Amino acid sequence: MTEADAVLPDPATPPGAGPQPVEPPALVTPSAPAGGWTTATVAGLRRPIARSVELRLDVHDRVDHLPGQHYVVRLTAEDGYTAQRSYSVASAPGDPLVELFVERLDDGEVSTYLADVVEPGDELEVRGPIGGWFVWDGTSPALLVGGGSGVVPLVAMVRHARDIGRLDLLRVAVSARTLAELPYAEELAAAGALIVTTREAHGIRPAARMTAMDLLPLWEPGQTAYVCGSAAFAEAAGQLLVGMGVAPSAIRLERFGPSALEQPAR
Ligand SMILES: Cc1cc2nc3c(=O)[nH]c(=O)nc-3n(C[C@H](O)[C@H](O)[C@H](O)COP(=O)(O)OP(=O)(O)OC[C@H]3O[C@@H](n4cnc5c(N)ncnc54)[C@H](O)[C@@H]3O)c2cc1C
Repeated sequence: MTEADAVLPDPATPPGAGPQPVEPPALVTPSAPAGGWTTATVAGLRRPIARSVELRLDVHDRVDHLPGQHYVVRLTAEDGYTAQRSYSVASAPGDPLVELFVERLDDGEVSTYLADVVEPGDELEVRGPIGGWFVWDGTSPALLVGGGSGVVPLVAMVRHARDIGRLDLLRVAVSARTLAELPYAEELAAAGALIVTTREAHGIRPAARMTAMDLLPLWEPGQTAYVCGSAAFAEAAGQLLVGMGVAPSAIRLERFGPSALEQPAR
């Protein structure tokens, strides 16, 4: 197989099934803001696509985020049991509310609660913004590559770019099983994103996984690549980019994987 024949796994491919990960150097954005634990009121809630929920949060004593950062949401049961998970911010820094988009996993502990139980007016315990690596400050050219709900932090980047009139800095490629399962599909399409669907045709494009041939026209020297999705998707996308000649130091990966490590003790 040549490099150009390389393909990304379906966004639903189980972690570990794809090529080996690209490990980025341990660089951080020193100016990335960080916030502590606080509460947030659910100001709005929508279910724009099946099996997911979009939460609009009024975060008390909010620290403004940079696109790409995330929040931790902590749930506490009556017996004191707690569970916490990370969720990327979908909203731009200029949005008065913090928007999260949660894909509901049928056997998930936290995502099912957020998708099925939470109602407008509820209070949630949150910590954020968090993250100094997977952040875009709005000044440099970037290639955004997302799979499934991995598009969420990329949407924050697109929205921020739109707000500051710098959409020209971004090239975007996203993948989902079907268009109906792609979060923010219309908004991404309007921003010029290449949309790849793996289980159905999209336009003139037959159902197929993302390939290096998709990404090559979007890549320009000087870009930083932001890749987000399942562990398998992120690792394979990183390998595609490296195969195209992109320096590993120019690739930033964010993996949405099984979150056992986020589970604190009682
Ligand atoms: C930095 C970061 C940002 C994230 N941002 C988002 C986001 O914007 N939107 C979003 O929906 N999720 C996001 N996630 C994933 C999220 O943190 C949780 O892992 C996810 O919601 C599952 O939690 P759960 O409690 O429902 O499932 P769990 O009870 O933890 O797990 C249930 C089952 O699903 C498996 N599993 C866990 N997580 C995933 C996953 N992501 N994909 C496939 N299988 C999984 C587990 O192995 C287990 O079998 C992010 C993760 C990280 C690390």
